[in-house]
Amino acid sequence: MPRSIRPWRWRRPTSPTLPAGLRPGERYRCGGCGNLTRFDVLSRERVRRFWHLDLSGTGAAEEVEELQVTVESVTCRWCGSSDAIAVVEALAVDQAAERAPHGRGSSPELGVSE
Ligand SMILES: [Zn+2]
Repeated sequence: MPRSIRPWRWRRPTSPTLPAGLRPGERYRCGGCGNLTRFDVLSRERVRRFWHLDLSGTGAAEEVEELQVTVESVTCRWCGSSDAIAVVEALAVDQAAERAPHGRGSSPELGVSE
């Protein structure tokens, strides 16, 4: 009896290019130096990815479902700080040049244990 093939049911699809621990529209910001773009993110992940491969066996993950993601630490690549990283609203590129990158007052829920 052939196995039934059903499409995946994506419980929490995320972008393959979104860093661990962030939702769409969010980004990391270092409160120490203002860095917005370079971070080491240490995470434990249980993730289902839809891999779209070509015949050579290489390809890309086109869909990602985060089943369980725990961010253990986020470290700034500029100043090395790991205790001043906040999750802030990601601004559109044209707005980012005009507005100061204020956070939303929320502290990151990183679950950092030191
Ligand atoms: Zn920094």
